[in-house]
Amino acid sequence: QQSSVADARQTNVLITGTPGTGKSTLAAQLAQRTGLEHVDVGDVVRNSQDKLHDGWDEHNAAYVLNEDALLDHLEPLVGGRGGCIVDHHSSDFYPERWFDKVVVLTCDNTVLYNRLEGRGYAVHKIQENVQHEIMQCSVEEANDAYAKDFVEVMRSDTDEEMRGNLERLVAWVQSRTTTDAV
Ligand code: ADP
Ligand code: MN
Repeated sequence: QQSSVADARQTNVLITGTPGTGKSTLAAQLAQRTGLEHVDVGDVVRNSQDKLHDGWDEHNAAYVLNEDALLDHLEPLVGGRGGCIVDHHSSDFYPERWFDKVVVLTCDNTVLYNRLEGRGYAVHKIQENVQHEIMQCSVEEANDAYAKDFVEVMRSDTDEEMRGNLERLVAWVQSRTTTDAV
């Protein structure tokens, strides 16, 4: 059987969405269930020996991401080996070829407000993120950057929804692994 370039790496999934929608919680559980590696991009930028940012943005209380440096840093792992769950609030600057699926988590606005408040975010930052969610910016960003078939929007208001999303993704990863082994 012919193998395509995409077959050269293991399955990758990107989990994106507004901060607080539940990306890291879902990604950690999916990693535990499947053996895929959870790549929390925020953590990578904070902790990498490579400098992956252009300084600290006081207003946003976040690093200014250096996208080129990040892509160079992740290329061997994600683009080369694969087997990663990339967890990031942005999706549009990654190479499309890296991912087999893009999951966009969405959440009720009031639920999101409360989660971000619980995290101790400044009020202006909570409002910006809730506005981002109201406008469905992450859904639009992913739909503009990836083929429609690759993008799956999942609601994540409740623990029950989280469990349902997890089970669907576990089944999808396992179906791909089975196909690979044939
Ligand atoms: P993100 O990584 O997208 O910023 P987190 O995974 O850190 O979001 O989740 C933010 C908070 O919301 C955490 O306290 C988490 O436990 C909670 N949470 C996330 N998703 C759900 C959900 N579907 N149901 C209930 N609580 C959730
Ligand atoms: Mn997170």
